[in-house]
Amino acid sequence: MIAPGFTGGTLDRADPIRHDPQAFAAALADERGRVLKLAALDAPEVGGDGRLGWTSIADAPADAELLLLGLDAGVPHFVAWQPGESLPAARSPALVAALDAMRPGEAATYAAARSLLAWHDRHGFCANCGAPTAIFRAGWGRSCANCGAEHFPRVDPVVIMLAEHDDRVLVGRQASWPAGRYSALAGFLEPGESIEEAVAREIAEESGVAVGRVRYLASQPWPFPSQLMIACIAEAVDDTITIDPHELEDAIWIPRDGVRAALAREPDAPFLPPPSYAIAHTLLTAWIEGA
Ligand SMILES: [Zn+2]
Repeated sequence: MIAPGFTGGTLDRADPIRHDPQAFAAALADERGRVLKLAALDAPEVGGDGRLGWTSIADAPADAELLLLGLDAGVPHFVAWQPGESLPAARSPALVAALDAMRPGEAATYAAARSLLAWHDRHGFCANCGAPTAIFRAGWGRSCANCGAEHFPRVDPVVIMLAEHDDRVLVGRQASWPAGRYSALAGFLEPGESIEEAVAREIAEESGVAVGRVRYLASQPWPFPSQLMIACIAEAVDDTITIDPHELEDAIWIPRDGVRAALAREPDAPFLPPPSYAIAHTLLTAWIEGA
């Protein structure tokens, strides 16, 4: 079974509580309640067993709003949101280390919390009328008292894909990446576009390669700040590469053995792979296994 990073969360998202202010008040008053430990709204505390660290509601800052992540065996789990405190723009070294250490299901809980915080961070004012908004639905929405509009956390779809041709796959690199790193091409879906059309457009724009049939493989939440990565494999019509230098520094075709060597981090591998929690890694692994 394909299990990309940031999937497999075990919290019950407890939708009925979001719609029941009394039930939410009871959850806030539950002495067993847990609050996610985050350093400066960024890196979680991760134990030696790969599990997230939690603290008690009493230890949360007094001015924080608690957002309900869900229930674990009936115990409410929250993340604390402090208005005015902003998330860092870049992933800190502490966060990168935590991502490497987290168990997959725990990373899914972290991803939900991170995306939710990032959304509140950016949506303090109504997109309809500009008035300040207030949290409702146990943290899963913001409402505007001025115009009545309700706003809900958004997810932005991104296609991420390998083109394949003659038993090789196309990978590219951006100039800002670590030396030697290559990964799957990716881009945001645009309004009025299907997944298949976005895959073909992005591959053509970035690499000049034309593709035909597109097959879906898997998807993954990506909490920086809130994308859904939709992983696909596309059959290339030909293998001529013409990169867009604004998007990519380089793009290359890699045969199966080269991908295998890269994923095994062999010293003479033709490229460095993406991190294991990124779905590009899942995509490359699935491709050498015959997906
Ligand atoms: Zn409004």
